[in-house]
Amino acid sequence: MRKYQDNNTQLVTVICNRCKKELKVENGILKEGCFEVSHAFGYFSEKDGQVYQFDLCEQCFDKMLTEFQVPAEVKEAKELL
Ligand SMILES: [Zn+2]
Repeated sequence: MRKYQDNNTQLVTVICNRCKKELKVENGILKEGCFEVSHAFGYFSEKDGQVYQFDLCEQCFDKMLTEFQVPAEVKEAKELL
């Protein structure tokens, strides 16, 4: 969950939706690992037209992955984002 100010241009707060941990934000820049999701479900889903947005801290992301029956694929990023 993200909060912005200055006409929604300046990031001020990022809170993990799962555990409520407040992530470190300095001068509008997120300075911790965060799994940011913005997913629009499409026509063939039961959530057609709904956009889900949430943030997970790195610890909650790791916990989510441990619940996978098939591990996520991990590759090296070609460019740092
Ligand atoms: Zn968390």
